[in-house]
Amino acid sequence: MRMSQLYSPTLREVPAEAEIVSHQLMLRAGMLRRSAAGIYTYLPLGLRVIRKVEEIIREEMNAIDGQEVLLPIIQPAELWHETGRWADYGDEMFRLVDRNNREFCLGPTHEEIITALIRSEVRSYRQLPLRLYQIQNRYRDEIRPRFGLMRGREFIMKDMYSFDRDEEGLDQSYWAAYHAYERIFKRCGVLARPVEADSGAIGGDITHEFMVLADSGEDLVLYCPDCDYAANVEKAECRPIESQAKDSALFKPVEEIHTPGSSTIEQITEFLKVKPEDCIKTLIYTADDKPIAALVRGDHTLNEIKLQKVLGCETLELADDETIHKLTGAPVGFAGPIGLDIPLYADYSITNMINAVVGGNKQDTHLVNANLGRDFTVTQTADLREGEPGDPCPRCEGHLVGARGIEVGQVFKLGTKYSSALNASFLDESGKECPIIMGCYGIGVGRTVAAVIEQNHDKDGICWPMSIAPYHVIIVPVSIKDQEQASVANAIYNKLEDAGVEVVLDDRNERPGVKFKDADLIGFPIRVTIGPKSLKQGKVEITMRRTKEQIALPVDDVVDHVVKLVKS
Ligand SMILES: [Zn+2]
Repeated sequence: MRMSQLYSPTLREVPAEAEIVSHQLMLRAGMLRRSAAGIYTYLPLGLRVIRKVEEIIREEMNAIDGQEVLLPIIQPAELWHETGRWADYGDEMFRLVDRNNREFCLGPTHEEIITALIRSEVRSYRQLPLRLYQIQNRYRDEIRPRFGLMRGREFIMKDMYSFDRDEEGLDQSYWAAYHAYERIFKRCGVLARPVEADSGAIGGDITHEFMVLADSGEDLVLYCPDCDYAANVEKAECRPIESQAKDSALFKPVEEIHTPGSSTIEQITEFLKVKPEDCIKTLIYTADDKPIAALVRGDHTLNEIKLQKVLGCETLELADDETIHKLTGAPVGFAGPIGLDIPLYADYSITNMINAVVGGNKQDTHLVNANLGRDFTVTQTADLREGEPGDPCPRCEGHLVGARGIEVGQVFKLGTKYSSALNASFLDESGKECPIIMGCYGIGVGRTVAAVIEQNHDKDGICWPMSIAPYHVIIVPVSIKDQEQASVANAIYNKLEDAGVEVVLDDRNERPGVKFKDADLIGFPIRVTIGPKSLKQGKVEITMRRTKEQIALPVDDVVDHVVKLVKS
């Protein structure tokens, strides 16, 4: 490709619409243009990168016996009614109506469509296992599309669905996908960490998210620097605290304190001159229409997903003001465990607190020196709080570190959720009808590209890994008008093309500075510079984009050397 013909309009200025570096660089390098909020046109260089990532994904999916299909973007509403998700999806779903008033959506995901396909064709255990995948556009009407390809309304996903006879088969499919994902991200040149994630409030199904650690990430991850443990903050386990034998001689008498207007932890610590970790927060919830209270330390955050799992309830929500008033006899902010006649669930950290500050169940009143065992008892202690950086690792003696992450992929055991709802079953060896066991496995293609840039850039532009660079090499003659430079450049260009190297020749009549800037911005891994000084000695210069490492080589050796670099 000749640069004079390549459609890659580069920008010198950072566009105002772009907040994060990957978005800025994709716009500046002429890879992407915005059509509407969260909807983009991929220009030639951007599309080449997308296609390379797709090809890596395809190879790895095929290697685990995935078979590629292409499911429709437009999906009939009826299928979504069968699983109940037509209503559940809410405003995030793009909906449309055809000329006969039939309802459709633009697929936000494809579980319904693929399960409906399978249910009419797969009848026998002999047809299983089956792993089908596609690379397709997805649509979600995000409230706040942002960060370019990170959170768009139209985006490209690879999704695979596995269909197995039993849990053992699902386990094999799950781990095959998991390891394929490790290979995919490695080949794309991005460090993605599998983290344990939460699969929702009900059910023990396991799921992992693949997170690229980057400051621009929207998710919070906790990981252990000393072992493999890593989890989404919602899922991170907090170790049970061994309850120490408390010396009751240290218990001071409970005292009632007038605390006018101090209803938050911040206000009460200020008023009583105590630390948040000396206080107990009492949060009143309605769980399946019954009131319960959850106790966490003042400096901790309650994790509702953990609480819901412990309770095993269908619905869980914070009680309304009226209910709280009825139960505690006080307005919101003064609830406490002493004398509160509903089931109390305490986080592990409560067990070793001595002389704690609690709400007084009376307006403008708190109690100090509350002690579990002496003044109140609890129904159950459990892991109820959100993990935090500095927490002990649940797997080893290390301590967790917090980082921001970009979710680029997820593997998920669905079990029979969709096969039951859509009646996708098979007959086993004994002729018994069983629901098909499913898993689903997604990768955000555009998001992976953006994450690669977040991890691989410098002040001058993108530093593409060779595997997904739009082109491997750019040849820059300092002056294209110089006949000797032009003829050497052309000769190298032709030989590299013949050797199968993807190469761009910058044949523009521009100043060298402009050409170098564009080459760095776009991020060609290798630059071959043909300048008058070195050419006098029969040499050209090779510069590595990432390290800026530079060597001069005789003209005749350049092609072999570059081919070696590309292949390595
Ligand atoms: Zn650890």
